[in-house]
Amino acid sequence: MPCINGTPRVFFLLKAFHEQLFLLGGSHSIVITYLETKVVLMESITNGTKYECLLFDMDDTLYPLSSGINLACRKNIQDYMREHLNIEESLVPRMCLDLYKEYGTTMAGLKALGYNFDDDEFHDYVHGRLPYEILKPDPVLKNLLLSMPQRKLIFTNADKAHVERVLNRLGLEDCFHGVICFETLNSPARFNDEGDENQAAISSLDQKELEVVDSNLTVNKTTGFSKILCKPALEAIETTIRIAKINPQKTIFFDDSARNIAAGKEAGLNTVIVGSSELVPGADHTLESIHNIKEALPEIWEGEEEKDLMLTATAVELETVVQA
Ligand SMILES: [Mg+2]
Repeated sequence: MPCINGTPRVFFLLKAFHEQLFLLGGSHSIVITYLETKVVLMESITNGTKYECLLFDMDDTLYPLSSGINLACRKNIQDYMREHLNIEESLVPRMCLDLYKEYGTTMAGLKALGYNFDDDEFHDYVHGRLPYEILKPDPVLKNLLLSMPQRKLIFTNADKAHVERVLNRLGLEDCFHGVICFETLNSPARFNDEGDENQAAISSLDQKELEVVDSNLTVNKTTGFSKILCKPALEAIETTIRIAKINPQKTIFFDDSARNIAAGKEAGLNTVIVGSSELVPGADHTLESIHNIKEALPEIWEGEEEKDLMLTATAVELETVVQA
């Protein structure tokens, strides 16, 4: 996994410097002064990074809406409403849309109306039958993501299994430092008071095995009602900011949903509407395709060239000092 802000590279370079110091005898003071100057210069570069974290929605953001996954998902939801909840067929399409608009996801709306069903069963039915084979590996996006120096997180309303399948199909499973998904925001851990404990709820893709959380326990302890926490609720975004320990002013939030972008802006995030050429309320930038990210937001890579030049120059200069 690439380092976040260059600090590991600075550390190893300094460690190498210190090992060299033992070989230099009487020239310690000159080299120490030289090192201190370099450290100050490097810290000024790494600390000056404009953005520390990039928060990505996944569906219709990391791959285009035109893929057809969205349509297939909606069909599966409507089938579930008919077949498992026995909702009158003629009511389903309208109800599906209205609940999505009102509650963030149709699933959250169904729960709020009092329909009782198992979360995992719903996700298995709705996502488990998607035609994932239409998603293809995206090496261009993979290279872009890996070249970004910031911490990168997925922030989605979908369940963990769906996230794994999509990222694997796109070839992006190694590109993110963690995932905030349905299970993250709807597990007992989110009711803990301290962020340290909630931090454990963030699924780590580094470990290749996402954390298992109990998604059945979604009863809000303060109200006693079943409630699903999801975008675009401000509470969902603020909870994410808290448990991921991110500074919203130094975080960019990418999402294809205008209402999610508006809520993200309300929470203090920098925002990018993806899949649109027109700004929406609360959006700082537009991105027709995630592939255009370098042209639209070059500031993400700000300071990277300077850091590389500094490290290269320092390594060469050190070698000169040591050999002198
Ligand atoms: Mg989306």
